[in-house]
Amino acid sequence: MAKQRVVITGGAGFIGSHLCLKLVNSGYSVVCIDNLITGCLNNLKILLKNRNFRFIKQDVCNYIKLADKISFVLHCASLASPEDYLRFPIKTLKVGSLGTHNALGLAKEKKAAFMLFSTSEVYGDPLVHPQKENYWGNVNTVGVRGCYDESKRFAEALTMAYHRTHKLNTKIVRIFNTYGPGMRSYDGRVVPNFINQALDNQPLTVYGKGEQTRSFCYIDDLVEGLCRLMLAPINEPVNLGNPNEFSIMQLARIVLKLTGSKSKIIFKTLPQDDPRQRQPDISRAKRLLKWRPQVSLEEGLRKTVAWFK
Ligand code: UDP
Repeated sequence: MAKQRVVITGGAGFIGSHLCLKLVNSGYSVVCIDNLITGCLNNLKILLKNRNFRFIKQDVCNYIKLADKISFVLHCASLASPEDYLRFPIKTLKVGSLGTHNALGLAKEKKAAFMLFSTSEVYGDPLVHPQKENYWGNVNTVGVRGCYDESKRFAEALTMAYHRTHKLNTKIVRIFNTYGPGMRSYDGRVVPNFINQALDNQPLTVYGKGEQTRSFCYIDDLVEGLCRLMLAPINEPVNLGNPNEFSIMQLARIVLKLTGSKSKIIFKTLPQDDPRQRQPDISRAKRLLKWRPQVSLEEGLRKTVAWFK
């Protein structure tokens, strides 16, 4: 039987590249589209010569034309690190709007299922804790993070409009903080920053007092959830993340312990609109996907530290 073909936009990025590998290994044929603005071909090194994998260098903000039969379009392209979207706010808004429109158009033409990679950032600085999918969020539209949050909120609205209007089989995953091998060393996000600062004997840069919280999910757990959602008959948004919540100070101490580093902790200004707390309520994913994360923060960080070393 011919393999089912999956298109992944943003497949050269951190999450996308893990997913490309998992899908090829699970028997799919994968077409990865990426403009490499934040992604990197190095992430796909072991796939580039695989005959079930094809890479196309393209910006998804431009019309996507493919001759192949396609079963799934996974729209993962995005500038997901706060440092990146603060540097490229217009690009961020375009990939969430024009890019999502093009990816949905491709899914519609091919009668393929579609999955939007959305984010916990749609909840903004949440006033409800933990965050359930039915919470509408607290976003400063005109703040510096608005470019990312609103692009994803627009992308979710567009996805639901295609579902309702064109009866497209769409899925929306709201991804909470994820980490693991394959992140860029100084990607700007807290886990790679702290690990590399610790390994380089540089001070760990805690923003604000470090009292803000995040809940960190190991990449393998996330990818398992993504694969289940891709195949599930669910059209409403689903949170995927690890509900174990840590303050940023706790994270800094764990990284110091695991690396055995003598680095100091220094405090820097808290970025504007930095969410004070974030923790997914994953009861929907547990119920509908029979999914829950398996890897503890320490275990995941150990693997990530080993990879960065
Ligand atoms: N953060 C920090 N030091 C860093 C990078 C990030 O204290 O070197 C903080 C940041 O202010 C935020 C949290 O860590 O409160 C998570 O930041 P990240 O950029 O990883 O992702 P976010 O959850 O904000 O999208």
